[in-house]
Amino acid sequence: MIPYSTQLIEEDDIAAVVEILKSSHLTQGAKVEEFENELAHYVSGKHCIVFNSATSALHAAYDVCGIGEGDEIITTPISFVATSNMAIAVGAKPIFCDIKMDGNIDESLIEALITPRTKAIVPVDFAGKPVEIRTINAIAKKHGLAVIEDASHALGSDIEGGKIGSFADMTIFSFHAIKPITTGEGGAIVTDNDEYARKLRLFRSHGMIKKQLWNSDMVSLGYNFRLTEFAAALGLSQLHKLDRFINIRETIARYYDERFEGHKLFSTITIPKSEQSARHLYPLLLNPELHCVKEEIFNELQEKNLGVQVHYKPIYQNSFYKERYGEMRLSTTELFYRAELSIPCHQKMSLDDAHTVADTVLEVIDKYAYRGCSF
Ligand SMILES: *Cc1c(COP(=O)(O)O)cnc(C)c1O
Repeated sequence: MIPYSTQLIEEDDIAAVVEILKSSHLTQGAKVEEFENELAHYVSGKHCIVFNSATSALHAAYDVCGIGEGDEIITTPISFVATSNMAIAVGAKPIFCDIKMDGNIDESLIEALITPRTKAIVPVDFAGKPVEIRTINAIAKKHGLAVIEDASHALGSDIEGGKIGSFADMTIFSFHAIKPITTGEGGAIVTDNDEYARKLRLFRSHGMIKKQLWNSDMVSLGYNFRLTEFAAALGLSQLHKLDRFINIRETIARYYDERFEGHKLFSTITIPKSEQSARHLYPLLLNPELHCVKEEIFNELQEKNLGVQVHYKPIYQNSFYKERYGEMRLSTTELFYRAELSIPCHQKMSLDDAHTVADTVLEVIDKYAYRGCSF
């Protein structure tokens, strides 16, 4: 099976972890800080605070923004559930904004959703393609809102050379096994805001500050959301390979772009020349005449050892959300969900693998052309 995404762990990654396992500090040592400094430098951010997951990082980001009971955030339904779940965890209500056919939030629809309760806009760089962050920042500034960018797919993505991580008030990254680089489980927040950074560190570790000798003081409610030293060592080793990983994914994605260009039955998502995508996912968008056979296409690709996946079922379609907020349907989100299919694209693949994937995709999709769907 060629999975849609997977990690690439090499001997030097393993050696970096082993070195920490043999050392005195398994947690709360110097590696976490080294990883944070290099990450901040890589994305040109002032502060980086790492967490044990992006989910923990999102929780912390909402908390330090002062988001709580009765507040609202505006976000996208085409994301992993954690993006909106953690807003609910702090007492807020996620307001879902419709998307565009590139999978990113439709910035032209955001302003109409702002109410006196809105506290933040939370876009997601779907598949690694940067959102229209400048427009989103301008809307947020006009209404006094925070921008928390969930860039879990987008470490290494850039807009005109400016890395994602240098635009929003806070930017979240994930180091889950199959994200652009990995620490097994892990996440980070990059911010230029000193006050956010101070509060994020407290939130990560029990709200405690060290005083003299044995004395410490707990000044705010915090958790244990810390990353281990060996995870940080793996992250640091992986960070040094990020540009190579992105180059491999970009080469595969460009090959797919060429092979699939102008196809009658599906389309792909174009990355503008002025931008770089981390290419966390390579999404295909099936034309409406194939939507009714998507299950068959999915099954057949799986049977042919392509670990395809669908990103994502709209968050509001989950039972928890329906029970809490009622049924909703956003038209482009629904269309995108019916059309989307992510095919393998990762740094462990060779170009030969990509040929195989493209051949198989074309063979299977062309086979279903005659079936057509009535709609
Ligand atoms: C993976 C992911 C998360 C959660 O990341 P974890 O590190 O697994 O907690 C949040 N948002 C998006 C968009 C993701 O893809």
